[in-house]
Amino acid sequence: MYMSTSEIRAAFLEYFRSQGHQVVSSSSLVPHNDPTLLFTNAGMNQFKDVFLGAEKRAYNRATTSQRCVRAGGKHNDLENVGYTARHHTFFEMLGNFSFGDYFKHDAIKFAWGFLTEVLQLPKDRLLVTVYATDDEAFNIWEKEVGVPADRIVRIGDNKGAPYASDNFWAMGDTGPCGPCTEIFYDHGDHIWGGRPGSPEEDGDRFIEIWNVVFMQFNRQADGTMEPLPRPSVDTGMGLERISAIMQGVHSNYEIDIFQALIKKAAEIVGTTDLSNQSLRVIADHIRSCAFLVADGVMPSNEGRGYVLRRIIRRAVRHGRKLGATDVFFYKLAAELAVQMKDVGAELIAQLPLVERVLRIEEEQFVRTLDRGLLLLEDVLANLGDAKVVPGEVVFKLYDTYGFPADLTADVVRERDIGIDEEGFTVEMEKQRARAKEASSFGVNYNEMLKLDFETPFTGYKNLSERTRVL
Ligand code: ATP
Ligand code: MG
Ligand code: MG
Ligand code: MG
Repeated sequence: MYMSTSEIRAAFLEYFRSQGHQVVSSSSLVPHNDPTLLFTNAGMNQFKDVFLGAEKRAYNRATTSQRCVRAGGKHNDLENVGYTARHHTFFEMLGNFSFGDYFKHDAIKFAWGFLTEVLQLPKDRLLVTVYATDDEAFNIWEKEVGVPADRIVRIGDNKGAPYASDNFWAMGDTGPCGPCTEIFYDHGDHIWGGRPGSPEEDGDRFIEIWNVVFMQFNRQADGTMEPLPRPSVDTGMGLERISAIMQGVHSNYEIDIFQALIKKAAEIVGTTDLSNQSLRVIADHIRSCAFLVADGVMPSNEGRGYVLRRIIRRAVRHGRKLGATDVFFYKLAAELAVQMKDVGAELIAQLPLVERVLRIEEEQFVRTLDRGLLLLEDVLANLGDAKVVPGEVVFKLYDTYGFPADLTADVVRERDIGIDEEGFTVEMEKQRARAKEASSFGVNYNEMLKLDFETPFTGYKNLSERTRVL
């Protein structure tokens, strides 16, 4: 049964609404009042204090489609983009939550009910995992739901480290956490990858679609596990992953939203090879970058803003690789707003700002990008058998050409070459010690945007097209 991404999102929220859950809007990508978190990385973030018992809501069941970014901090998938079928920097997480209301039985039954009854997924394609010692969850799956025991995998702690398991979910180093049970979909033996728990589990054959967390503890900074006032449930299912299944494709990048973005990107940069990985990376990156700006993050040289800047620069580099000759990235934002209109109110409202910020950032960077790439080519040509770009070169690219280290790594990884991260750090330390001014690539957006309201913008007169006025 084919379903569009928007139809799946709506069906999910409706299913849980009909089971007594309050439908709650997605929160911002910038977590409010939570300095422990870089970006919103899961549906439960906005309910953290409710789980901890510090905040009370008028409801004890909720459901959301939460926009998430995983490009830094504990959950970081930036390096996976372009390399796996299932990871994005930005994705939507569908979730249902119980705040001290239902627990393991209902959580498992709801998840199974949605997948097998509403979406009608074939049961023999599904596989589940439980935390190694969680007999209760194992028994619910086997005896109450009827999943054969050989399709239930127990996953223990990695190398014996307590609670360091794929089946023990934690938001960050501290905060609510607990054992979980996860549901995987088998895309078929024509795709490389093994069952969870096997050495080939990182392949893309068995794709994890849904994580059902039994929230029981609040992890303290010293590692102790404090029991939560009331055991709760937090679940997260990747919308793009379930969409791939419902649309009969393997990769998330083949679903409706991504195909539209990829087509548009190809048109803008002037390529016809729709299967090019760089198009996928660009389609991924426009989602995180546009939504981050819409949620108030501005490119900068530190913190959240630097993560944003790094993602934008990576996208720009991929555009150049595809042959883009003009500033292109910002032109995708409008298509994104169309594709995600159901959940993109903030993006639609902020579209002119988003386009402007992305455009200025690209204009700044393209001035040095080509020269930096030439330098890198030179270095690569003389590397000989060495498979690592020296730290000084990585630093020079950073300091003189505005290449974040991960961008250099992204370029050379395509040729199976790495970067000397330690050497780079040493150079950075040296620079700090010299107490020189920071690199001159920073743009003070607040200043610029403020000025632009007051006086005609004159900063980019030399460019062919004038920067759009808000
Ligand atoms: P994976 O093992 O595939 O990296 P995960 O275990 O890190 O996923 P969870 O933290 O359990 O993911 O998040 C809940 C769900 O969110 C996952 O089951 C998946 O469907 C989805 N998800 C997680 N990370 C991403 C991502 N980077 N892009 C798209 N969907 C994701
Ligand atoms: Mg992950
Ligand atoms: Mg996982
Ligand atoms: Mg998981």
